[in-house]
Amino acid sequence: MTDGRPRVVVTRVPPGSALERLADDHDLWVWEENVPIPREVLRERTARAQGLYCMLTDTIDAALLDGAPELRAISSMAVGVDNIDLDACTARGIPVGHTPDVLTETTADLAFALLLAAARRLVEGVDYVRAGRWGPWDPSLLLGHEVHGATIGVVGLGRIGRAVARRATGFGMHILYHARSRNPAAEEETGAEFASLEELLRRSDHVVILVPLTDETHHLIGAEELSAMKPTATLVNAARGPVVDPAALFAALRDGQIAAAALDVTDPEPIDPNDPLLSLPNCTIIPHLGSSSVATREAMADLAADNLAAALAGRPMVACANPEVVARR
Ligand code: NAP
Repeated sequence: MTDGRPRVVVTRVPPGSALERLADDHDLWVWEENVPIPREVLRERTARAQGLYCMLTDTIDAALLDGAPELRAISSMAVGVDNIDLDACTARGIPVGHTPDVLTETTADLAFALLLAAARRLVEGVDYVRAGRWGPWDPSLLLGHEVHGATIGVVGLGRIGRAVARRATGFGMHILYHARSRNPAAEEETGAEFASLEELLRRSDHVVILVPLTDETHHLIGAEELSAMKPTATLVNAARGPVVDPAALFAALRDGQIAAAALDVTDPEPIDPNDPLLSLPNCTIIPHLGSSSVATREAMADLAADNLAAALAGRPMVACANPEVVARR
């Protein structure tokens, strides 16, 4: 601390009023460039910081924490914390804030938009028109597959998966889901039916992935899983890129093992412009836009600020990814 206020590093300018919320009571240093903060700068700046407000593009690992002995709180402007070594933070008594709930409905909207776009070949249609290829009405042009009344398989029926399932009820869909444990409240609300991953993939017309990225879910969807899906099926990944094996997905889309895919997330991000997935007309890829509405990004930024301020003031965070730390204090 310099003037008695905790020193806080902010790794990217957040939208809305988040910085104002922190300004009075914290000595803020903000990385103001419109690219992720370089690792070396992050190391230098956190060396004497008590608080860190970070983004999903920042890798927070044990080496960084070792170089930041005064760090008392980390707050990420995201719900997924796969970029943060949670165990290393917990071992050092550092609570990690994240932003669940405020982005749930917005991300579910986007996942459903991707499902509709892929199943009904919207991006192919846009490209077709832009290329000046639109001729007389054609009864066989760009035929897709039904969404209404079809079977949707939600892999990971947590906050966002359940919100996707709610949307699916409006389309008269039959809902299957897979997770490690059953979710009776979501089953009751949406009529979702629990299934093994293999059964879900075999029976679903559209599969939407919404699990967190962990060691267990890395390449959860690979060649074997894709080969279990219907040749008319659509795969949507709105979770994290590495949950789907990109080489296996490319082969499945190229060979017609599945009909289409739509990805909000890739591995790596950003995707290489020469990545073979980008050459496939039946693969729609957008740049990680799940929570990207004005209101939701501001709500995430505010919640991340509130999480950090609470922890630095010795109060529990509003949303903490490793609450056992707080309980131990
Ligand atoms: P959540 O409420 O924690 O839900 C996660 C779900 O995944 C739960 O149903 C969980 O159930 C299941 N799950 C966890 N590990 C699993 C495994 N090994 N196998 C099968 N199911 C597993 O999280 P959420 O708020 O819905 O967010 C989900 C993820 O979406 C986040 O972690 C983040 O990576 C991603 N996300 C992406 C965007 C975007 O912009 N595209 C935006 C927000 C979030 P069990 O624990 O019972 O298995």
